[in-house]
Amino acid sequence: MRQVHAPDQGVPQYGKIHSARQRHAVLHLLCQICAQEPDENPDGVLWLLPTLPGRPPEDDGDGIITTYPPICQPCSRLALRQCPPLRRGYALLRVRDVQVHGIHGAAFTLTASRAVLHEAVEHAYGDPALAKVVAVQQLLRLTDYQAAGDTEPQ
Ligand SMILES: [Zn+2]
Repeated sequence: MRQVHAPDQGVPQYGKIHSARQRHAVLHLLCQICAQEPDENPDGVLWLLPTLPGRPPEDDGDGIITTYPPICQPCSRLALRQCPPLRRGYALLRVRDVQVHGIHGAAFTLTASRAVLHEAVEHAYGDPALAKVVAVQQLLRLTDYQAAGDTEPQ
């Protein structure tokens, strides 16, 4: 998806994800907020995910599919204080294995004269339905993870 690229300008717009920045952060495994190295220890890289209240992150049996990049310790504390969706529920994980999975985007129905927005979708790479989707965010699959018992929010 095309968007204006103006690093270090403007103010954060929570909930409005910049596609190019999100893709850069997930593909290079950079902190989702400061774009520096995320926190890592022998148990894995730190990930902070919003969840439904009282529920763990959804795992389809092959892992957790997410658009969220990893995070560093200072930014995880900042996010837990300031991000409204995290107040409902969150999980702090240590992730040891992650793969690029696919895209989250907008599916269009093509007519003779135009493309009509149909719905928000997620597709794995290789899915033929990708041809009708404008990618908005990169999807990752977190396949080897555990609760981050070493990390306590402050
Ligand atoms: Zn950070």
